[in-house]
This record gives sequence, C-alpha cells and structure tokens, in this order.
Amino acid sequence: MMRYGVSFALSEIFFTHFHADHFLGVIGLIRTLGLQGRPEPLFLYGPKGAKKVLGTAMQLGVERVPFPVEITEVKAGDTVGGEGGGGKRDGYDVCAFPTEHGGGPSIGYVLKEHVRRGRFDVEKAKAAGIPEGPMWGKLAKGEPIELDGRKLTADGFVGEARPGRLVVFTGDTRPCAATVDAAQGADLLVHEATFGEEERDRARDTGHSTAKEAAQVALAAKAKRLLLSHVSARYSISADELVKEAKEVFPNVSVAKDGLEVDVPFPA
Ligand SMILES: [Zn+2]
Ligand SMILES: [Zn+2]
Repeated sequence: MMRYGVSFALSEIFFTHFHADHFLGVIGLIRTLGLQGRPEPLFLYGPKGAKKVLGTAMQLGVERVPFPVEITEVKAGDTVGGEGGGGKRDGYDVCAFPTEHGGGPSIGYVLKEHVRRGRFDVEKAKAAGIPEGPMWGKLAKGEPIELDGRKLTADGFVGEARPGRLVVFTGDTRPCAATVDAAQGADLLVHEATFGEEERDRARDTGHSTAKEAAQVALAAKAKRLLLSHVSARYSISADELVKEAKEVFPNVSVAKDGLEVDVPFPA
C-alpha cells in the first residue's frame, strides 16, 4: 500500500475465506494503522469463522489495538456492511455470494452500483422555456415543477435510467454456477486463475481454477471483462500462457498484478 501510494484511510476489509495467504497480512496492517494513531473504527467482514480467526489475528501484532475493530460474519446472500452495518451505502451495495473452495466456508463479493437517473436534457428544458436554476435541479432529480400555472413532470426532460456498474470478486474458488449467477453482465469479473491447463487436475484437487475455467465463467456470465488473479508463483514472471489459454474462450482478459489500476467505464 505504501509502495503504490494507496491511502490508509480505509474503513472496511472484505475476506473471502481464511487460508493464511488471505488474512495474515491484516496483522501487519492493523499494527501500521495503530502506529499511525488512527482513531476511526475498522470493519472486517468474512464468512463463518471470521470472529474467531480475525479476533485471534488482531491480538498477534500488538498488545492492544488502539482503535475499534468490528468483525462481522457474513453469509452468502447478505448485503454487507455500510452505514451502521445495515448494508446502506451511497449509490452502491456490496453483496456476498457462495463460492466453492472446499475446506471451510468461502464467499465472493459483488459491488453493485444502483441504477442512475437518466440524463437531464438541457436543450429540451430551454426549448420549453424553463429558466435555468432550481427548476432544472428539481427536474434533474425526477421531481415535477410548476411553471406559469402549468404542471410539468420530469419525464419529458430526463432520459432513461441508466444501469450502474457491476464488479465481481471471487476470491479462491472452483468455477461454479453461483459465480456465473453473481457475475451476470458484470462490467468486471475478477476471477482467480491459480493454474494453467497443464495443471487442470491440480486445480480441481485444491479447490482452485485454471485460467481457461475462469474464462468459461466469464463467458457464461456474459461479463464484459475478465481479470485473472491469484496466479501461481510459477507464472509470476510471465502469465502470457494463462492469458493465451483464457483468450481461447473469452477475448477481454488480462492478469492482475500489485498496483494495477483498472478503469471500469459506465455501460454505454
Ligand atoms: Zn484459499
Ligand atoms: Zn489463496
């Protein structure tokens, strides 16, 4: 986080499962945040077992965590976190879905933006003689206005509602129907691809996916873009092979790496 200039002003962390490679890092992070004198609470979410595993981890790095840490156990189907823990967020939801990793509960997360209001048509408003100002604001918000005794609804001045974006993060998993469901039409699917096809059996036996399997999920979900993550160390120098295998199934593929920033445009 330091290397890439990512802010430490985070307030929530989402855990997919409790294999060591997915939660040990939080010990150092909590310690760093403590040394920075952070006062704000930190919210941790994870599947069943989160309280025990993360509660223990919290005690390992420091004598006393100097800011509140709230651990919430999440199950598939839940809307997660948000203001007061009630799932309410401004403009989007985070929801959990089941994954198939074996050896304990595991979940993935979707970030689902709310439908956005249609665009306000300035030209139409001008043509209708509506003066620029508060009336434009009302119409843009979908509210009716009164102009010279005429009641005008927003319909004629605001375009169709626009879909929000959907970003899906699987964590470790076999390719599964639940991910295909969760990722329907996703703007971005971040799917694990630990192995290449030559280790297909190993992927199956260890609860992981191959790049090609991840691509098959992306294809079945009609996702727009696939980002392969959690690739095995043997592909750390070059993951070209994984991309090549995935591209045979699904065209828009790349590999995640530390520090990568991905722009997710609004659907056209
Ligand atoms: Zn795992
Ligand atoms: Zn893992």
